[in-house]
Amino acid sequence: MKKILAVLGFLLVLLIVVLLLRMILVKSYQVQAPPVTDLTIDARAAAGRLAGAIRFPTVSHEGGANVEAAAFQGLHRYLQQSFPRVHATLTREVVNGYSLLYTWKGRRPELPPVLLMSHQDVVPVEPGTEKDWTHPAFSGFMDDSWVWGRGALDDKVGVLGLLEAVETLLGKGFQPDRTIYFAFGHDEEVGGKNGAAEIAKLLAQRGVKPDFILDEGGLIAEDAIPGLKRPAAMVSTAEKGYLSVELVARSEGGHSSMPPTHSAIGTLAAAVESLENHQMPARIEGATRRSYQYLAPEMPFGPRVILANLWLFSPLLERQAAADPAANARIRTTTAPTIFQGGIKENVLPHEARAVVNFRILPGDTIQSVLRHVRDTVGTGIRVSPIGDANSEPSPESDVRAPEFALIQRTLAQTFPNAVVSPNLLSGGTDTKRYLSLSPNVYRFVPMRLKPADLKRIHGTNERVGIANYGEIVRFYAQLIRNGAV
Ligand SMILES: [Zn+2]
Repeated sequence: MKKILAVLGFLLVLLIVVLLLRMILVKSYQVQAPPVTDLTIDARAAAGRLAGAIRFPTVSHEGGANVEAAAFQGLHRYLQQSFPRVHATLTREVVNGYSLLYTWKGRRPELPPVLLMSHQDVVPVEPGTEKDWTHPAFSGFMDDSWVWGRGALDDKVGVLGLLEAVETLLGKGFQPDRTIYFAFGHDEEVGGKNGAAEIAKLLAQRGVKPDFILDEGGLIAEDAIPGLKRPAAMVSTAEKGYLSVELVARSEGGHSSMPPTHSAIGTLAAAVESLENHQMPARIEGATRRSYQYLAPEMPFGPRVILANLWLFSPLLERQAAADPAANARIRTTTAPTIFQGGIKENVLPHEARAVVNFRILPGDTIQSVLRHVRDTVGTGIRVSPIGDANSEPSPESDVRAPEFALIQRTLAQTFPNAVVSPNLLSGGTDTKRYLSLSPNVYRFVPMRLKPADLKRIHGTNERVGIANYGEIVRFYAQLIRNGAV
C-alpha cells in the first residue's frame, strides 16, 4: 500500500513538473515594432464620409433577386465624389453591374500584387426591429463617439476604410512598388456568386496571383478572453464551410380526427431534435489550436498552464466550450435548425413537413461527411438533400509562418502596440472563398474593437463603429499598404 502511494505521489509530482515546465517553456509569438508616427488621420472627417455611405441602403436580398440598383449606383457616385485622388489615380472597373474592382498600378509590375477586399452590400433590418434602433439603420447618424447604422461594422467600414487609406497615402505622394487591387463585391451577404465570384474569375483570366489577400473576418476582441487583460487582434487564417440541408418528412395526410401515431410534423420534429442531441464531434486543431498557442504565453498563471498543456486539458476545454456558442463554433461543426414548416389548417394533417438545418463545417469535416452524419442520425423516412448555392467546403488554413502573416503582425505591432496578435478560425463566411485558388495566403481581419456584447450588433440592431476606432482602422490599412507594397 505504502509503495503504491509512493508511486502515485511520484507520478503526481512528475505531472506537476511537466505541466509547469511546458508552461514556462512556451515562447511568445508576439513581435515588437516602433509605432507609426507619420500617419495622422482626421478620424471625425473620415467617419463623416463613412456615415454618408451608410445612407445608401445597399441591401442584399435572399436568392440574389431585386438588386437595389439605385442604392448601389448612388453609393458608387458618392465614392467618386468622396475620394477624388483615388479616382484620379486608380483604375476603376464595374464588374457584373455593381461590384467594384480598383487597380493601383505599382512601379514594379513584375512583383506579385496584393489584393485587399471588402463588400458593399449589407443585410436587411429584420422587420419589426426598426423601432429598436437608437438611430434609424440607414441614417448614418454621428454623435460624439459613434457612427451608427447598417454597414458600420459589416462591411462599409472596410470599403470606406481602404479608400480613405489610399486617399491619405496619395495625399502624401505615396506610390506602391507592387500593384494593389481593391475588390468590393456587392452580394457577399447572399454568397458572393454574382460579385466576388465574377471579380475572382476576371482576375484569374488576367493571371493575377496575389502575394496575399486580406478581407473582413477577425477583429480586435476586448474583454473577450478570460484572463487576458490586453485586447486580442484575432487574424482569421481559416474559415468554416457552409451547408444547408433540407429535411422532408411525408405521411398520409387526411382528417385530423383519425391521425396516425406519428404525423409528418412529429417525425420531422424528432429528426431535428435528434440532430441537436447528436452534435458532430469537437476537435481542438488547426487554426483554433494555433490560436491557443499564440494566446497561452500572454495569459496569467492558471489559464496559461491549461493552454500550454492541451495534450492533457483538451477534453476539459472542449467541455467548457460547449457551453459558450462562440467558443463551441470554433471546435466543431455546428448544427442550426433555421426553418420549420408544415401544415396549413388546424384540422388537416399535412402530407409533408419541411425543415432546413444550417451547418458550419469545421476544417477536417466536409460537406459529404456532414451529409453522412445527417443521414445516419435522422434515419430512414426523412428525405435529406443539400439546398441553396451558398454551400462551401471549409477553407484551407493559411500559414502563420509565411512572411505575409508576419507582415500583418508587424503592421499591428506598429498601429495597435497593446494588442496580442493571434491567428484564429472564423466561424462565419467571407467572400474569400471565391478567391482561394488565387493565393495560399488568405487572411481575414478588420481592426474594429468589439466587446462580446457588441457581436450581436453585426447583422443585428444598433450596429455602430467608434469614431476613434475608425481612425485606427484607416491608419492600419494605410500602414499595411505601405508595408505590403514594397
Ligand atoms: Zn461582411
